[in-house]
Amino acid sequence: MSQASTIHVVRQRSLKSRSGTVTAVAELAPQTLDLTDDQREIQALAREFARTEIRPVSADVDERDTYTPLDVLYKAAEVGLTSYMLPEQVGGGGIGDVLTGCIVQEELNWGCAGIGNLITSGAFFGRPVIEVGTPDQQQRWLAPLCGPQPPLTSLASTEPGVGSDTAAMATTAVRSGEEYVLNGQKTWISNGGIAQYYVIFATVAPGTGSKGVTAFVVEKSDPGITFGEPMRKMGQRAIINTEVFLQDCTIPADRLLGEEGKGFYSLMHTFDESRIHLAASAIGIARAAFEYSVEYAKTRNAFGKPIGQHQAVGFRLADMATRIDAARLLCHRAARLMDAGKHVPAEAAMAKLFASETATWVTWAAIQTLGGWGYSREYPVEKWSRDARLEELEEGTSDIQRLIVSRRLLRD
Ligand SMILES: Cc1cc2nc3c(=O)[nH]c(=O)nc-3n(C[C@H](O)[C@H](O)[C@H](O)COP(=O)(O)OP(=O)(O)OC[C@H]3O[C@@H](n4cnc5c(N)ncnc54)[C@H](O)[C@@H]3O)c2cc1C
Repeated sequence: MSQASTIHVVRQRSLKSRSGTVTAVAELAPQTLDLTDDQREIQALAREFARTEIRPVSADVDERDTYTPLDVLYKAAEVGLTSYMLPEQVGGGGIGDVLTGCIVQEELNWGCAGIGNLITSGAFFGRPVIEVGTPDQQQRWLAPLCGPQPPLTSLASTEPGVGSDTAAMATTAVRSGEEYVLNGQKTWISNGGIAQYYVIFATVAPGTGSKGVTAFVVEKSDPGITFGEPMRKMGQRAIINTEVFLQDCTIPADRLLGEEGKGFYSLMHTFDESRIHLAASAIGIARAAFEYSVEYAKTRNAFGKPIGQHQAVGFRLADMATRIDAARLLCHRAARLMDAGKHVPAEAAMAKLFASETATWVTWAAIQTLGGWGYSREYPVEKWSRDARLEELEEGTSDIQRLIVSRRLLRD
């Protein structure tokens, strides 16, 4: 099926399951040049879904703290938003380009970052399975993700003692006949405990750094995998995070993903893509806060005129808009380069670094624009600021992004 007809299917499913028509593009929505008609259609679909299905429940899900809105996930599956990026061979939409992922990610995260990232979490798990998995493995773990009630998935790299320095991971995998035995502990794992499938990174050669890192798929029903309680977080609460314990977790040898010792490369490649998507998520949050601020500045009066007419407020809005546009340009540049087959760790790092710091800055600027009301839980901007802060931390902190860029600049 061609990309165009796949999107057509996505659109048809949307219209069948949802009587509302796609709304006109909001005035402040991104003026992105050079998108194809197909990309504009899926953008409109994601935008409408975010407006009608995500935004209305976002505050409630946040207040409930560690609640996963599976009903919203299943509605997203109905219209193809959970699986459009997975290969057609396993029943997905086959729209695997990074740029389309960014466009969708921005719209969904405009609705709510936690829920948006929950909807597309299958892509994070799916990336190494698509890249190095056999056709049988792809069928086994990706085909279920294309159904109407997709199981949740996780990717587990971080450990209590090892986050940024991934190559130093201590979780081990030992081959024993036709099985592997995994021992260790992972932490901060998104969808932990409620996911059915886990890509787990472990070392087959402790002490050799990146050379031993290997990827496996562990299923929730496998012996020896258990989970901690949901961790309580500052933001993005629609996604549950837990510790994952592996105690003599015994899996068949065919759970090996790719080759022994090649997992580090696979993880880094996954991050190259996911960091560009994470940049788009940050832009979505920033845009939500910016749009809200503009409306507020037009209608809130002080000293006899709308606050936006006071230069300090108007200029702040101008800075917000400028930074968001710059972040999107960096993000789409990295996406287009990756889609063109380039190796883009530095460009992906620049996009994530700038977009995530922009999201933090813009959401704080939004709080300032609302004055005291910005600090109130009755208004959404304080939630957006909490959600935004995570983008500077996960999948490599801002320091690590600077490290990647500086290494590129200084290498021979
Ligand atoms: C909500 C949430 C969801 C997450 N989801 C997942 C998930 O699904 N799967 C998963 O595997 N992980 C996940 N993580 C983990 C996340 O990727 C790590 O927290 C992150 O990579 C940072 O690792 P760390 O917390 O161990 O910090 P550390 O590595 O201990 O870093 C601490 C500080 O030291 C700085 N630092 C470290 N090394 C350097 C250096 N070389 N140069 C300069 N500064 C340095 C860091 O920037 C940071 O400021 C999640 C985390 C959170 C908070």
